[in-house]
Amino acid sequence: MKITFIGLGNMGGGMAANLVMAGHAVNAFDLSKEALARAKTNGCATFTAVREAVKGVDAVVSMLPNGKIVERVFEVDVVGHAPTDALLIDCSTIDVDTARKVTAIAVVAGYSMLDAPVSGGIAAANGGMLTFMVGGTDSAFIRAEPILSAMGKAVIHAGKSGAGQAAKICNNMLLGASMIATCETFAMAEKLGLNLQTFYDISSKASGQNWSMTSYCPIPGVGPTSPADNGYQGGFATALMLKDLKLAMEAAQLFEAKVPMGERAAQLYQAFADAGQGELDFSAIIKTL
Ligand code: NAD
Repeated sequence: MKITFIGLGNMGGGMAANLVMAGHAVNAFDLSKEALARAKTNGCATFTAVREAVKGVDAVVSMLPNGKIVERVFEVDVVGHAPTDALLIDCSTIDVDTARKVTAIAVVAGYSMLDAPVSGGIAAANGGMLTFMVGGTDSAFIRAEPILSAMGKAVIHAGKSGAGQAAKICNNMLLGASMIATCETFAMAEKLGLNLQTFYDISSKASGQNWSMTSYCPIPGVGPTSPADNGYQGGFATALMLKDLKLAMEAAQLFEAKVPMGERAAQLYQAFADAGQGELDFSAIIKTL
């Protein structure tokens, strides 16, 4: 297929490269010259305008920083410029409302569009191991599956338009809260005189077990290799966790959901980021506990 990829940053760069490796012809666009140069090295054709990049393609995939940018790029430069039979897929993490609004604009103009945010970080993007949660119609989902499969290990239809973003922020709100709960628990276990490896051996097989503990343990040297073993470098940056928690809080307010644990997690990650720790992996919040 001929696919346009917009937004070739930390995530999009690897995703576009995986589409090339799967045999697709990829037209790449980014505002950054460095990102475009990397895409060229990875086998993409590069463009200096979205309108040019979307001419005659079968699909347009985007991986952009936020909802405002996604809205502007699709409304101004994709809709009306890509062929109407091109499938539009936004993989950025943005708010549910904007995702639905952009899809509605595309649909009115005759396109099919999906929101397809991802779980998994830069390593998963580079390795084609992302999980996609997809919102949109059944027919659009069926068309998108082979494209997304080339970039991920799982492609799941979450429901209608906006459902992908809803699943993403609900999952990450739970992740943020469970990471803090895991961190404070290890910190207390230490204060109570427990050996932390011994506590891990017990709790990872008991009812406190959770992903933050057993796949991403915040204690160096305990559990599988995680960012904690690397000085909390790499992994999922606190700033990105905070972005997702803010989206979750906006959604909670808009849809009148009671989320006291999510709210507290957002406050604690905000304070950690304000203290200049936004670049560290989100498990580094244990330093404050
Ligand atoms: P990034 O900042 O590395 O990349 C974004 C890219 O978009 C940059 O190259 C930037 O130049 C480009 N860009 C900005 N405005 C543009 C425009 N108008 N037109 C074209 N290109 C434009 O960010 P990232 O880490 O790759 O994240 C991208 C998205 O993926 C975000 O929505 C983020 O929340 C989500 N996400 C990131 C991770 C992660 O671990 N980094 C994990 C899951 C989801």
